[in-house]
Amino acid sequence: MSQKIRTRIAPSPTGFLHLGTARTALFSWAYARHFGGEFVLRIEDTDVARSTQDSVDQILASMQWLGLDFDEGPIYQMQRLERYAAVVDQLILEGKAYRCYCSPAELDDMREAQRARGEKTHYDGRWRPEPGKVLPAPSDAVQPVVRFKNPLDGDVTWDDVVKGPITINNREIDDLIIVRPDGVPTYNFCVVVDDWDMKISHVFRGDEHVNNTPWQINIFNALGAPLPQFGHVPVILGDDGQKLSKRRGAVSVTAYEEAGYLPEAMLNYLSRLGWSHGDEELFSREQLVSWFDGSHLSKSPAQWDPAKLEWVNSQYIKQADDARLAALVAAQLTGRGIVLDAVAVAALPAMCALFKDRCATTVALADWLVMYFAPVVPKTEDLAAHLTDAVKPALLALADSFAGIEWNKAAIQAAIKEVIAAHGLKMPLLAMPVRALVCGRVQTPAVDAVLELFTKEIVIKRLRSL
Ligand code: GLU
Repeated sequence: MSQKIRTRIAPSPTGFLHLGTARTALFSWAYARHFGGEFVLRIEDTDVARSTQDSVDQILASMQWLGLDFDEGPIYQMQRLERYAAVVDQLILEGKAYRCYCSPAELDDMREAQRARGEKTHYDGRWRPEPGKVLPAPSDAVQPVVRFKNPLDGDVTWDDVVKGPITINNREIDDLIIVRPDGVPTYNFCVVVDDWDMKISHVFRGDEHVNNTPWQINIFNALGAPLPQFGHVPVILGDDGQKLSKRRGAVSVTAYEEAGYLPEAMLNYLSRLGWSHGDEELFSREQLVSWFDGSHLSKSPAQWDPAKLEWVNSQYIKQADDARLAALVAAQLTGRGIVLDAVAVAALPAMCALFKDRCATTVALADWLVMYFAPVVPKTEDLAAHLTDAVKPALLALADSFAGIEWNKAAIQAAIKEVIAAHGLKMPLLAMPVRALVCGRVQTPAVDAVLELFTKEIVIKRLRSL
């Protein structure tokens, strides 16, 4: 019988959901969904000093925003301490783990001596029980740690879903601490007990964990637990070729939500970082799920490309429903202190429809729509270029003409045509100063369409302000 596919994402709640973790979550989620399996969210909060509820909330909000729904969880490691303690006791009982009473000073001396001898620093196994070996006497002054009795030699080999076969010799790794002096178990131990208990079949995670995997495999084996398959996903590099990090710009999912990106665009873009399906660039989550079977994952680092993300987002904005965009833009505008009454709210979808083609984000869309709700300041250079003495009478005539018409696009266009004919002007000569005065910028969609979405009173007032 084939095993049920179960994947998980196991973030540590020490900050927001990092883009790298979001991408791993996305791969894990898509893999589970592709095979009709299950996706688990586990919160790895054993670093008590740095874990916060606020981070958990942010992680949950970002997962929800991206639509990465999970079937189980969030499961908190700190609520599983009893289980870990029982497994540790069992390992000690079976002689597969042991208490080590080395003080920090003693460990420092040990490493110092190893360095002096030109050796790689490692735990020398002085508390490791062996048949016939006499152990030192435990000191009351030292709170012991528990170490895992790692095999002394032999290879650990696994066939990585992403990287292919990897082999590490046990001589390169020492006896890992699995319980700290304060009694809290460590990551490499909890992760194994959890992946075992939660019947995880596939572990996708960042490749900074490749070096932890041999320890984890040894612990799985010591527990008699079946091994999951591991897939280590290469890092995401920033445009400076360095690992994407906070110091080099936005790295949280939340920051992109705030910057006006749509979740489906983010999901689409993130999935292409280290994975491909032919040369498909734009696809739905359903397509992603139907294609994502663990193949075509790249072995080399992915490149974060803000321009491409922006392009992807602009494609999604173009196709987005206007009412949905209106709600997003309303939130942006409100955030800028603009009070939207019911009339404004009702007008927003048509405004979004008119401007969405030229906007890469909902923030850019809000930048455009501000002119409808707040005073504009025409640019001096636009006025200098377009507000000539010759055109001023035509602008005032246009304002007068607008006062008498029914406010719709056809009537606006007819009024403009009449004025340019009466004043012997060409269309742009009138349209440019109209845009400068009413919109505060001179590049806009067709002027009649833009004006229609203002109230007549505002347009007249701005035209007469020249
Ligand atoms: N808490 C670990 C991290 O955030 C999880 C690693 C794993 O998936 O095993 O890196």
